[in-house]
Amino acid sequence: MAICERLYYTDCYLKEFEARLVRTGPDPRGVRAYLDRTAFYPESGGQPSDRGMLSGVRVLEVIDEGDEVAHILAHNPAGESVQGSIDWERRFDHMQQHTGQHILSAAFARVGGYKTVSFHLGAESATIDLDSERLGEQQVERAEILANQVVFENRPVQIFFRSAAETQQLDLRKPTLREADVRLVEVADFDLSACGGTHVSGTGGVGIISIRKVDRSKGLARVEFVCGGRALRRARHDYAILSEAARLFSTGMENVPELITKQTQDLREVGKSLQKLVEELAELEAAQLWQQAPEKAGVRVVTRVFEAAEGKKAKLVAHAVGKQPGGIALVGVKGAPATLFFSQTPGGQANLSDVMKQTLAEVGGKGGGTRDFAQGGGLPENQLEAALHLAERLLPDGRS
Ligand SMILES: [Zn+2]
Repeated sequence: MAICERLYYTDCYLKEFEARLVRTGPDPRGVRAYLDRTAFYPESGGQPSDRGMLSGVRVLEVIDEGDEVAHILAHNPAGESVQGSIDWERRFDHMQQHTGQHILSAAFARVGGYKTVSFHLGAESATIDLDSERLGEQQVERAEILANQVVFENRPVQIFFRSAAETQQLDLRKPTLREADVRLVEVADFDLSACGGTHVSGTGGVGIISIRKVDRSKGLARVEFVCGGRALRRARHDYAILSEAARLFSTGMENVPELITKQTQDLREVGKSLQKLVEELAELEAAQLWQQAPEKAGVRVVTRVFEAAEGKKAKLVAHAVGKQPGGIALVGVKGAPATLFFSQTPGGQANLSDVMKQTLAEVGGKGGGTRDFAQGGGLPENQLEAALHLAERLLPDGRS
């Protein structure tokens, strides 16, 4: 087994290369091609693998197999000598995010002694996990400012190799356990880390580092960030959203939060007024229904079915009938399932809790309540009329 020379170790800007196809192996997606040298970065340390072409065949994935690097291809490339070309847009994006990560991690270490315990580079944004959830908003802001200062100063980012023994003597942000030669990445006078990834050659290449979100849980602070091209796209996207919000409110962007606050308050007030109106309407309707109901021995029974959308009003009407002298309301609300509200003037003769239970025992459903107000649900809609008739018959003064 031959050791594959990793060309990106020393030149992260190499986009085209020639190599010898050493061997191929089986893979569910096609073949695994092994080269004597490669500029393709295999997935490792939180950074996804490169894409591109090998002699006209698309590279689907690149896997680190220790000494070797497996290039997953749909089929074998022709010939022993292959031409590699890296999907540069994807790679450069990864270089911006990854270098940004080194700088941001070092900035958090300087601002509050936070240690980066993991890094993930996703398709939309990247995250680092810091070793404490006590990360404050001010520290986030200070770290972001410091990191971007380092970007604006365009400090050199250099790669060099040292033996494991020499590396032990160095002050690395993250110690390494490697026994072979260690690849070190240095952001001049700011950060020194052991890393096998791809980086831009000067911090200016990162463009900008923008923190998007901080989640604190389980003893960690997860910091989501975007760098360079991603930060630009995100800013453009945010601008579009904010512009649209401002347009909808017919105002300037800076007034949007204030207007949302005001409109939310207004809406709450309107909701309260509406609730009051519905209550008044229910009282009126209840009084009318009570008046129309025949009176027998000082009791008037209002039996009524409401549409499914009127459930709220139905309950209010039932309550309001119970405010009239000698009133009993037997109210049903259509729907799947249907609902029942029974109510009476406090101290009335019926025990509506019992009436409800006996009714539901016949037609199905569950419910209960007090002597003067009971509620039931879960009965089939086609049983609603039957339920109300039954309840009427169950009333104490023999109204049947
Ligand atoms: Zn790195």
